[in-house]
Amino acid sequence: MFALIDSHNHLQDHRLNADRNRVIGEMKWEGIEHAIVNGTSEADWQEVQNLHLSDPAFLSPAFGLHPWKIKDRSKEWQEKLRYFLKNPRASIGECGLDLWIADANLTDQVEVLRDHIKLSREFDRPLTLHCLKAWPELFSLLKESKPIPSFLLHSFGGPSHLIQPLLKLGAYFSFSGYFLHERKRKALENFRLIPAERLMIESDAPDMAPPNSLLTPYQNESFHHPADLRWCMEGLAEVRGESPESCAEQFRSNSIRLFALTSVS
Ligand SMILES: [Zn+2]
Repeated sequence: MFALIDSHNHLQDHRLNADRNRVIGEMKWEGIEHAIVNGTSEADWQEVQNLHLSDPAFLSPAFGLHPWKIKDRSKEWQEKLRYFLKNPRASIGECGLDLWIADANLTDQVEVLRDHIKLSREFDRPLTLHCLKAWPELFSLLKESKPIPSFLLHSFGGPSHLIQPLLKLGAYFSFSGYFLHERKRKALENFRLIPAERLMIESDAPDMAPPNSLLTPYQNESFHHPADLRWCMEGLAEVRGESPESCAEQFRSNSIRLFALTSVS
C-alpha cells in the first residue's frame, strides 16, 4: 500500500471528540503516515498544539485565523500566534479570503491575511491559504507581498488561468476527494493541469467528503473520515492518467518539502 500525507485537516474539530483516537488509528492503518492539523481561530490553537504534542511523529500543527472566524479575533491575536509559532514544527494556516460567505468584510479579511503573510516571512514558515470567490483579490495581495515563503492553496477551486501565475509565486495546490463530485467537474479539470511537483492531497476532515459513490469502508453520516484518503488518491490518479503509487510518492515528497517534515523522510 502507498504512503500518504494528509496535507490539510482539522482533527481538533469537536465533531471528532468521541472518535478521535479511533479515527487516528484508522488513518495509520490505511497508510497515512503524517497529517497537518490546521487551527482556525484563537479558540482552537491550544487543542491543535495538544494534538501535535500527543503524537508529534504523526501530527504537525498549523495556526491561523480562518476568514470565517476573524470577527471573533482578540486584540492580542498576533501575540498569541507568535507564541504558537515558537514551535519550530508549526506552519501558518488556515487563513485566507472568502467572498462566498454572507456579510464578508473584505477590508478586514485583507488586513488579517496581510498580517499572516508578514508573520510567514518573519518566521519563514509556509502558509496554508483558503480562498473562495476572491481569486483576483488574493492574487494581487500575494503579488504585492512577494517574496514570500512557499504556500499551499488548499482545496484549490480557482480559475485555471491563475495556475501558472500562482506557480510562479511559489504555490502548491492540494486536492480533496470533494472534487470527485459530479458538480465539481470543472474544478476537477484543474488537477490535470497542475504539475505533479506542486500537487498534494488533503482530507480537510471532518468536512469536504467525497461522493457516496466512492463507497469506502469509512463512509460516515456524521463527519468526513480522513482514512478514505487512499480512495480519493485513486480517484485523482485516474483523472491524471497516472498510477496512484507514483502520484502518492510525488505528493508525499512535496508535502515533506513544503512543510519541512524532517521527521517523516
Ligand atoms: Zn480547512
